[in-house]
This record gives sequence, C-alpha cells and structure tokens, in this order.
Amino acid sequence: MRELVYIGDRKVEWRERPDPRIESRYDAIVKPVAATTCDVDKSIIGGRAPTPPPFAIGHECVAEVVETGPGVTHVGPGDLVVVPWHISCGRCDRCRAGLTAHCRQVPRLAMFGAPIGGDWGGLFSDLVRVPYADTMLVPLPAGLDPIAMASASDNFSLAWRLVAPHLQRKPGATVLILSRGSIGLYVCDIARALGASRRLYVDPDAGRRAIAESYGAETAEAIEAGQQVFDIAIESTGNTKHLATACCCLEPEGMCESAGNHFITGELPLFQMYLNAVNLRVGRDNVRVNIPHALDLAQSGRVDPRRIVSHVLDWETLPEELPKLHTKPVFVRGSVLV
Ligand SMILES: [Zn+2]
Ligand SMILES: [Zn+2]
Repeated sequence: MRELVYIGDRKVEWRERPDPRIESRYDAIVKPVAATTCDVDKSIIGGRAPTPPPFAIGHECVAEVVETGPGVTHVGPGDLVVVPWHISCGRCDRCRAGLTAHCRQVPRLAMFGAPIGGDWGGLFSDLVRVPYADTMLVPLPAGLDPIAMASASDNFSLAWRLVAPHLQRKPGATVLILSRGSIGLYVCDIARALGASRRLYVDPDAGRRAIAESYGAETAEAIEAGQQVFDIAIESTGNTKHLATACCCLEPEGMCESAGNHFITGELPLFQMYLNAVNLRVGRDNVRVNIPHALDLAQSGRVDPRRIVSHVLDWETLPEELPKLHTKPVFVRGSVLV
C-alpha cells in the first residue's frame, strides 16, 4: 500500500510500505475515505516541523473499517468511523479519567501523522492499523457527511472543547478568536450555536474572515493588546505575540485557550496577567473524549462545518495539492466521491 510521506522542502510523496496487518485481537484495519489537514499540517509542510522529515503525515479522517481482530465488537467491516488523532487504550487510569492524549499503555505522545511516540503511520495512507479499535474508533452517526466530518478527528472536536465547556459555565459569554486556519472558524460556528453573545474573529485572510462573517461573527484583520475585552479568548495561530494579545484582551478572571502549536519558546506578559487574574490553558487535546460531543452537536444540525471545507479533491491528487496549503482541503475516494 501507499502512504503519503512529508519529505521536507514543502514536498510530499507516495511511498510503498507493506499493508498493515492485525497484530492484536483488538486491532482494526481502516481505509481513510475522507481525510483532511489539521492546521498544524500546514505549519509542517510550510517548514515548521517539530521533528525532521521524512515521516507519514495526516491525522484527521473519516475511514471505512476493512477488517477487525476477533476481540473487536463495537465496529465491523463497512462501518464509517472517526479516527482520533492520538492513540489511546481507553482502559488505563488516565484514559478513564479523560486524559486520553496521555495514555499509559502506549509510548508518550503516540499519534498518527508524526513520528512522535512511535511510528503509527499517517491518515493520508491507503490503509491504517488502529489499535484498541473498540475504544479508539467513533462510529460516524447516520446522516452526517463524511466530508464535513473529516476534521472530527482533531480540529472540529478540539474547537468544541475550546469553547463549549466555558459557554456552559458562563452562558452568553463573549468570545475573541485569533486564528489562521480552520480551528478558529469552527469555534465561530460552535460559539454561535451555543449562545455566545459576541464573537470577534481576527485573521488577516479575507477568505477566512468571509466564512466567519457568514457565521455571524464580527471580524478584524488585527487587534491590539487590551483594545477590547472578552470573557473567553482563543488563540490558534502558534504565534506567541498573538497568545500574549489574547491574554491581554480578557475580562478579570477570563479564560484564554491556546490551541496553537508553539514550536519555539516565547514570552508572555505574566505580571499583567497576574493583575487581571488570567486563566490560561495551553495543551494537547484529549480529543477522543470530545469527539462524541462534537458529533452530537453536528447531528443536531445547529452547526454547519461543511462551509469550512475549502476544496474537495480526489485522493490521487494528494502529492500535488497538499503542498498548496489550502485552508481545509478534503481528499476523498470510494463511495464518498459520489
Ligand atoms: Zn492536529
Ligand atoms: Zn490508556
């Protein structure tokens, strides 16, 4: 089979590798049918990879189950499933506590799409072995579009977690979103659906601002620190200056969520943050826990994530199209093409 490998210098290519096989009775083999880029993939292909190439890339997809081990009971061949970006057993103390991105049963940081915590392959591969299939894989609810839901593996479900619990604690809260990709757009839509009283989306890209406006958000190309204040601020740019700005645009005791991958060390205005009592969360998402909530919201029809899909492209075009860094291209094959 082929897997798509990031080889550096803004290039990806197909490489042959033996077909994955069932190694444990709890494994499944899946075939991605609608796969998309995480916002961090664009940073990687743009030259900001946290680890040196080559490595198999891709960690967001809806897949079709091809084969299951004898111990797998919740999913079977032919099922469409969301594949979480990280690997987790679902049974250890951390997984049971909801810390699925920190599972004790697999090497630390184990994930698809980057050679961190072992080589699990990428989700732009023809076939993928998924361990702990019963607890890892989330069946796609009937009626949901695999193309719109390709990002439920990570960015869409992450966006739910960035804003939904805070809006539950503070109904009608105001939300600032500093974004450079899909995550902030999903937040705009989800925050609207869950009753945020105000959303300001900040991004220099006019195309993405237009999508945010279509969700009823106010938009701006930039914002100065302290210029306006919000209950919740979300940074998904990976730029420390933007994170510092987000932390300085909060009401007292406000909540800042950083979903940017900050590959380099930076400075934050900690004394100002101290004076205003800022809550700051920086961290990998325990996405397996959030996927069912995000899918429930999608199934309710109150959000429209399909609008964020910038391109629907044939699977075979991956080597040419992925380096173009489209906002949210979804690569499809099989019946999903129809
Ligand atoms: Zn990701
Ligand atoms: Zn675990």
